[in-house]
Amino acid sequence: TSAQRPTATRTTCGYCGVGCALDVITSDHEVTAVLPARDGPVNQGHACVKGRFAHGYLTSPERLTRPLVRRDSRLEPVGWDEALGQVARGLREAKDTGGPDAVAVISSARATNEENYLVQKFMRVVIGTNNVDNCSRLCHSPSAAGLTASFGLSGGTDSFDDVERSDCLLVVGANPVEAHPVVGARLLRRVLGGAKLVVADPRAVGLALHADVHLRPRPGTNVALFHGLAHILLAEGLTDEEFLRERATGLPELVELLDDYPPDRVAHITGVPAADLVAAARLYGRARRPAIVYGLGVTEHLHGTDGVRSLANLAILRGAVGTDRGHGVNPLRGQNNVQGASDMGALPDLLPGYGKVTDPAVRSRAEAVWGVRLPERPGMRIPDMFAAARAGELRALWVIGEDVCATDPDANRVAEALDTCPLVVSNELFLSETALHADVVLPVASWMEKDGTFVNFDRRFQRVRPAVPAPGQARSDFDVVHALAALMGADLGCSTPGDALAECGRVAPVFAGLSHERLDREGAVPWPCPDPGRPGQAKLYQERFATPDGRAHLAAAPYLPPGETPDDDYPLVLVTGRRWAHYNSGSMTRRGGNLALDPVDVLDLHPDDAVRYGVRDGEQITVASRHGQARLIAKVSEQTAPGQAFCSFHFPASGVNRLTSDHADTVTSCPEYKVTAVRLTTG
Ligand code: SF4
Repeated sequence: TSAQRPTATRTTCGYCGVGCALDVITSDHEVTAVLPARDGPVNQGHACVKGRFAHGYLTSPERLTRPLVRRDSRLEPVGWDEALGQVARGLREAKDTGGPDAVAVISSARATNEENYLVQKFMRVVIGTNNVDNCSRLCHSPSAAGLTASFGLSGGTDSFDDVERSDCLLVVGANPVEAHPVVGARLLRRVLGGAKLVVADPRAVGLALHADVHLRPRPGTNVALFHGLAHILLAEGLTDEEFLRERATGLPELVELLDDYPPDRVAHITGVPAADLVAAARLYGRARRPAIVYGLGVTEHLHGTDGVRSLANLAILRGAVGTDRGHGVNPLRGQNNVQGASDMGALPDLLPGYGKVTDPAVRSRAEAVWGVRLPERPGMRIPDMFAAARAGELRALWVIGEDVCATDPDANRVAEALDTCPLVVSNELFLSETALHADVVLPVASWMEKDGTFVNFDRRFQRVRPAVPAPGQARSDFDVVHALAALMGADLGCSTPGDALAECGRVAPVFAGLSHERLDREGAVPWPCPDPGRPGQAKLYQERFATPDGRAHLAAAPYLPPGETPDDDYPLVLVTGRRWAHYNSGSMTRRGGNLALDPVDVLDLHPDDAVRYGVRDGEQITVASRHGQARLIAKVSEQTAPGQAFCSFHFPASGVNRLTSDHADTVTSCPEYKVTAVRLTTG
């Protein structure tokens, strides 16, 4: 047979939340190159080392190509009929014995919008429970809760194109140069073009080198930091009084609270010099169009939602949100479709489009489309699922595209939960840590092998298209959910991904103007988009906020200390995060050339601490917390502040998430990944 001519398939990157449009070049069903699309709405001809080069995993000999079923404690290959039959029987049995709430599913950013929509529909319609959650629980659930409370909707307030027009960028708890490189490059371009830059991050992240002011708060003190900045805005008359009078609420309570946060006291709590606080507040307060961009350094805390709301206070005080006098508050999403997984209702308390499951009017709209009575009680969040499994109350757990044993905190306890649960099903590309604890492992397609849409960090829907077929017998999550529903005697309708998005628009009017055909024509469309004949809203709240009273809500939450603090036994604070060449648990990026770029996980330590604890650069060390141990290579670096340590979670074998605690945001249960007290031993 003659070789195929090279083909280009336009799709959306499946790694970080920037949403770069990529042209995947294939020949004979193999990827030969990945090119950034010059007309990509967000990336404009750029891509990073992950999107461009991390596709070796597609042909890895370790890819799962057949379903596996546990027999006599070993996972053995079987056909799809047998594997799905076992899952269907297990789900029925769990439901018969413990009721619908004895079954739960964890969905993820690995799944398309249409897959997430179908998964939550399966749970609500076929099983009859709201026990569905997704990986945003572990990263930006405080953003959803905080931004909704402050402004009315769960997404960022402005498009990134607007943010790039800002004359002062406040970048908080984010390292976009490594974690969102195309955004990092665009922000840097703006700064080199004259915009002021304030970076607030404990580490000397890439952008900090170019900052006018770099604030380095102690991990866990964000709320005090933001209140300190707000105090200065008020004290120096840098607020927008007309905006506060006409469009905001909560000012008297906040003013009273901020009395307790003068610069000297905030300096004492955070470790940030008072003069730096004043300089940063003046830059933000005096800019003509300031913008806030933030990451998981704001959310992954015991008081992460308070952090988001206190940060949002700055934009409200300044009148820099919902106006042409600023570009709002914008979370950088870590994963390709973590925004979309939540938008589609893969959440225990919210249906597609963020209507509450407890609201009869919201339920009845979905009931009219789906033809069933829906459960009224909110379901379990991910940590509650694990606790219920350990308590013997959860009898079946289906994990779709998440390696919970590698990426969730206090990993030893997660593994214990899976080992206790009578049925664990894992949809996976590889035999992950989680798959190793599963009873049934279903091989599924990756982002380059399936059809649908993703939503990026600034709320843009974009198409995902298959460039190559999935290997062996692997199927899309979309097909797997349909097949399982059919085995359980249900027809979920919407037989194609395009039909699923159309049906979602009937359940959630905020998406009613979207369709695959429209996205094929227009490339990217932001939500809210209720009308197929009108553009989606890139910049929100220009007329009114989406809160019940139409006003932006200032929050007066006091600073409270983090869940973990260092002491004589555990004297260092560990912060975890991302590095440039890898993505999440590394299951895709470690299987290819990117491994050579960043081959091992290291623990960054300040030179003073290296001397204090007798650690040499390059030496293997044991890191211990109150929860577990990990083995890492020491890297002595001034990027990390004295008294702190930093490592990634890209190499599960090193056991980093055995160190992290089960402390979690008091509002949303997002883990406190950013503050773990640890000690080091050498040798
Ligand atoms: Fe773009 Fe992020 Fe993909 Fe890199 S990982 S190519 S920045 S979407």
